[in-house]
Amino acid sequence: MLCTHLHVDHVGWNTMRVDGRWVPTFPNARYLFGRSEWEHWSRELPGPDRDARDDSVRPVLDSGLADLVATNHRITGEVSLQPTPGHTPGHVSVCIASRGEAAVITGDLMHHPVQCAEPDWANRFDVDPHAARRTRRAFLERCSNRSVLVLGTHFATPTGGHIVRDGAVWRFQTGSSSG
Ligand SMILES: [Zn+2]
Repeated sequence: MLCTHLHVDHVGWNTMRVDGRWVPTFPNARYLFGRSEWEHWSRELPGPDRDARDDSVRPVLDSGLADLVATNHRITGEVSLQPTPGHTPGHVSVCIASRGEAAVITGDLMHHPVQCAEPDWANRFDVDPHAARRTRRAFLERCSNRSVLVLGTHFATPTGGHIVRDGAVWRFQTGSSSG
């Protein structure tokens, strides 16, 4: 199990409620959380925003199933993390490379393909909008015109496509738009 970051919509089903207690949903799994991500959220004050970490992250740590990893952690020979901070401090994307092909799962460094053309448009949930913009531009530059399949975590179907340069910005090209 891997969480790209610890926002409420990315930690669901880490746990489930059994007999009034939150317990890990997958007791035979290891759960990978970014160390710097957890260090950030573990300092937040009690309140409704913290509930997601309290019911979906802390019980996993308490059960001993969590590994706090570096933001460039290599999971297997084919799967590794890439630090993409800004949306949250320890945010990571997931890189997959196998048999000469490459893909990357964005996490929340972008929420919509329009941010390829408008990389400075911030999301209101970006913890550090300036860092998020820098990360987005660097990510788009890195991916552009390479055959890396970009899987947009929050993108509507089709979620997979390629980043192509378009003047000073970029475009998200999917199978249906490559025509
Ligand atoms: Zn998020």
